[in-house]
Amino acid sequence: MLLRPHVVLLFMLDLVAIKVRLYPTKTQVAQLDRAFGCCRFLWNQMLDDRRQAYEQYKIDGIKSRYKTEKEYKQLFPFLKEVDSKALQNVNWHLQDAYARFFQNCKDRKSNKTKRYVSYPKFKSRKSRQSYTTDTINNNIKIDFARQKLKLPKLDSWIAYSDPRVFTESIRKVTVSKTKSGKHFASILIARENPIVPLTVVHEEKVVAFDMSMKDFVVTDDYKLGNPRFFRQSLKKIVKAHRHVSRAKKGSANRAKACRQLDTVYEHYVNQKKDWMHKLTRVLADKHDAVIIEDLNIEGMKRFNKGYAKSITKDISWGEFTTMLDYKLTRQGKYLVKVDRFFPSSQLCSACGYRYRELTLDQREWSCPACSTHHDRDVNASQNLHDEGLRLLSGKGITLIRATVGTTGSHASRDRVNPPSLEVVVDERRIHAL
Ligand SMILES: [Zn+2]
Repeated sequence: MLLRPHVVLLFMLDLVAIKVRLYPTKTQVAQLDRAFGCCRFLWNQMLDDRRQAYEQYKIDGIKSRYKTEKEYKQLFPFLKEVDSKALQNVNWHLQDAYARFFQNCKDRKSNKTKRYVSYPKFKSRKSRQSYTTDTINNNIKIDFARQKLKLPKLDSWIAYSDPRVFTESIRKVTVSKTKSGKHFASILIARENPIVPLTVVHEEKVVAFDMSMKDFVVTDDYKLGNPRFFRQSLKKIVKAHRHVSRAKKGSANRAKACRQLDTVYEHYVNQKKDWMHKLTRVLADKHDAVIIEDLNIEGMKRFNKGYAKSITKDISWGEFTTMLDYKLTRQGKYLVKVDRFFPSSQLCSACGYRYRELTLDQREWSCPACSTHHDRDVNASQNLHDEGLRLLSGKGITLIRATVGTTGSHASRDRVNPPSLEVVVDERRIHAL
């Protein structure tokens, strides 16, 4: 399955989220906390009302029965103190959560999906806090020179630290506070992307990989290796957990130990993210198309419980795919997902014979038809590669097979428009929302 239809769009709009670290003053922290608190309160209140209505009538979808955020403001006047757009977003987010839940119920009934979307949950004071606000009448401002951000209902500008400058107008801002107490703002902008999808792809610039492979090796150029930070972080996480469990419940020491645990854990997650960003960046820059298996839950389990546990701790498959996809797409390149039912391991990459008798633990096998000897992973990867190329050409993309001594004009890119480098400049530091 190709993730993106092969349509030539001029000036595609990319929604880009720029996440910056905020450094609020004590007063601002208190104001932000109030906004988080009110949004959380409203969410929980609305969710509770809806749950009760559901218990009573066992049906959903009669929206008029539910109160809007404006009615809640009448009931709880303290809600008026915070940004009204933030409260409105709570209502939208909850409706969205319900819509996704009910749609998922339908889809699972009709066997469209096996993925499970859970019922909306109550929000806790102890987890990550956030609220989202929209731009209205230019109420969100950013001063790049002073590195300050102006948010609605906050009397003063909040300091942030980030070198990026953009000219696009701000659409939304999500302010968040991690469990360890760090503040961030995720600023959403729409950026024109003048890059046109490639119409010609050189086969040597296509890479395929099978997630079940031992080392998650991509090619000889970049082996994934075994990032040390996982083990180091694990030690620290274990130690921090021990401190928490030893401290007396409700004590100041325990609160301190909990904060320490959150800090250590966040550090590990950040390292993991950073590392995945770098890996997907290399992949997306080097290749015109990347072919991967479209894994189902079973496949993911195989991946998670697979050969290289310490490696899987450093990669989240879903996140990895998302990062890779947008980094390729923004350069007019392709992420090709091969159907998970494609028998990549069983096919003989030399003659196409399907060896159904192949067992899961068989690392090597010989083709009964053409007697070629195969390494399981190498063969699967080759099949995935061929299938991906077939899908690419099926979408009208011209494939150019590498010939010996390819240099000069052959090695250059074929594009409809010259590439604009400006668009991808800061991508390395852009985090998805
Ligand atoms: Zn064969």
